[in-house]
Amino acid sequence: MKKITQLFLITTAVILLGFDKPQKTTISPIQVVIDVSHGGTDAGAIKNGISEKQLVEALAKKIKSTNNDVRIHFTRNEDKTLTLQERTEYINSLKPDFVLSIHINANKDNTKSGLELYTSQENKFSDKSVEKANELRQKLLKHDFFKSSSVKTAPFYILKNSNAPAVIVELGFLTNENDYKYLTDSNSQDKIASSISEYLSELK
Ligand SMILES: [Zn+2]
Repeated sequence: MKKITQLFLITTAVILLGFDKPQKTTISPIQVVIDVSHGGTDAGAIKNGISEKQLVEALAKKIKSTNNDVRIHFTRNEDKTLTLQERTEYINSLKPDFVLSIHINANKDNTKSGLELYTSQENKFSDKSVEKANELRQKLLKHDFFKSSSVKTAPFYILKNSNAPAVIVELGFLTNENDYKYLTDSNSQDKIASSISEYLSELK
């Protein structure tokens, strides 16, 4: 009887130990925040009744992660007013790995067109920010924009105050005729959004 009890205990221990071993090490997903700029009373750039806030919202709704290890959050999903401080507080509360603020440009000079990207030297992860801005620039140049300046630096609030690598991307100029057509076309918006989605989904 004693031997059977011992055998039972040993078998139980073996089973429990077996189950105790983790089957797979869990990797915590990469957290990305898309700052959907402007909104509410702040329309941003406007041309022919089309505003920057509408366009960035339309683009953001088309951006999706195709990788379970990358989770994308948005600072707004609707047309609402948010201060820069509110945005940054929300961003930092998520402890993100990367922050991308999306904008549409405007200029008095209507010949200005194409992509612009900014990082801040005052961001704690400024080198990483520049690296990511360059990678995203390459991705967008390959699939969408035929023109882009090199990555610039600027002390924008979101860039300075995000506790993560952070990039502002200006996705073309509302004030340029070609960019305007491109940005207001639903198929082109799909292309821009899918390039951004592809880039973010590949983050490691
Ligand atoms: Zn803007």
